[in-house]
Amino acid sequence: MPGRTVRLTGWGRVSPSSAELAEPASAASAAELLGHELLDHGAARRGVIPRGLGRSYNNAAQCAGGVVISTARLNRIIDLDAASGLVTCEAGVSLEQLMIAGLPAGWFVPVSPGTRQVTVGGAIAADVHGKNHHVAGSFARHVLSFEILLPDGEPRTVTAESDPALFWATAGGMGLTGLIVRATVQLKQVATSRVRVDTVRTADIDETMAVLAEHDRSYGYTVAWSDSLARGARLGRSVITSGDFAGPADLPPADRADPFAFRPGARVGVPAGFPPGLINRYTVALANEAWYRKAPRSRRGELQTIGTFFHPLDGIRNWNRVYGPGGFRQYQYVLPFGREAAVRRSFELVSQAHAPSFVTVLKRFGEGNPGLLSFPMAGWTLALDFPARTPGLAGLMARLDRLVVEAGGRVYLAKDSRVPPDVLAEMYPRLAEFAKLRAEFDPAGLLASDLSRRLGL
Ligand SMILES: Cc1cc2nc3c(=O)[nH]c(=O)nc-3n(C[C@H](O)[C@H](O)[C@H](O)COP(=O)(O)OP(=O)(O)OC[C@H]3O[C@@H](n4cnc5c(N)ncnc54)[C@H](O)[C@@H]3O)c2cc1C
Repeated sequence: MPGRTVRLTGWGRVSPSSAELAEPASAASAAELLGHELLDHGAARRGVIPRGLGRSYNNAAQCAGGVVISTARLNRIIDLDAASGLVTCEAGVSLEQLMIAGLPAGWFVPVSPGTRQVTVGGAIAADVHGKNHHVAGSFARHVLSFEILLPDGEPRTVTAESDPALFWATAGGMGLTGLIVRATVQLKQVATSRVRVDTVRTADIDETMAVLAEHDRSYGYTVAWSDSLARGARLGRSVITSGDFAGPADLPPADRADPFAFRPGARVGVPAGFPPGLINRYTVALANEAWYRKAPRSRRGELQTIGTFFHPLDGIRNWNRVYGPGGFRQYQYVLPFGREAAVRRSFELVSQAHAPSFVTVLKRFGEGNPGLLSFPMAGWTLALDFPARTPGLAGLMARLDRLVVEAGGRVYLAKDSRVPPDVLAEMYPRLAEFAKLRAEFDPAGLLASDLSRRLGL
């Protein structure tokens, strides 16, 4: 039964809302909750939404006045086959847990976002992508099956072949088709836990895009960290890191005895009372300059740990507090290939607005998948994050929206906090199909989040 009322936010710490929290400890009790206990429960009439580790940036996993079903206690790995790398686990298992369990036998997650503190359920619901999208696609490609509880509590085992409609509405469907309770995922075989990384520092946006395109052909993982405030001849200057998992012979002799070493612990934290205003156009410009200058013009074969290469921000617990109590807003778009002028224009808009994006990441996606609301499609994706108090931010984001729509692109729902519903409809042409399927699977309209209400999903 839903218990205490909690105040929740996403990782960006904007738009808090309160809901009753239910934390079922098994798939059976989650089914009981949906099928019986919530039927006459007052708060459930305001809506019910699943929640993983709350790493989506805004309010996709919140439901003001309603019920939030957390998967925190659905966190068991049920089976991991060391020979095939197939793992079956409950939906609240985190990607970090999968790494800890899989790496000793040489298995890594097939797709990793920039944090490993996300659940398997959240990874499917947002159909997350990583630095290897150009070769591996997004998370759903590696999901062999999942078990979902429909809003009436009925369990369904779903594969892309047996039930493509439900599979592709759920992958990227932001929790709005049901509660995933279990999934079977194909892990990726690796020969060590270290990545051989090549680094290139680029002078401007043209060189950045050219190097990214070239590296897509020769590396499994690649991404550019860009200087969002650089202007003129330096517009879009970046540090590009590309790599692949190292082989045992690449490791220094001292590390060969433990080729799969992975030590995720020991993280420093940001104090709760961190003063607001420290992230601004001046400090971000200084930090960007220092970090750009520190990077080598070109370096080959550096060995990096999984943490350093994939999840540098996980090294600082609660790093989202550095933005102060006002929080921050992410903006991530994808624009189709051929619209490079619009990518350049987006860098101009951000730098002209002096909007201090602390983490600015540019990458190329490979083909998308049939997910109705899945974000990736072949093209350029840029992720930006700005302190929510940045002067003129709303206007800048509206200008970016226009640019994205005109170029045939879209923004990422897992990061969105403000796109207007009519603009979203221009970006996601299959919204009506999604709504039709929702009506079929959830005729009573039980599932709802703050995000779905704002966008009319
Ligand atoms: C530092 C950082 C870096 C990131 N980098 C990337 C990146 O590189 N690529 C990328 O794609 N994303 C990235 N993200 C976003 C993140 O991967 C996604 O938002 C992911 O969905 C978060 O998973 P979660 O378990 O925290 O889910 P939550 O944030 O709790 O929920 C996200 C959505 O999933 C739904 N959901 C959660 N569990 C279930 C379930 N069991 N059944 C059905 N629906 C469910 C929720 O209803 C909600 O709509 C990043 C986030 C952070 C904080």
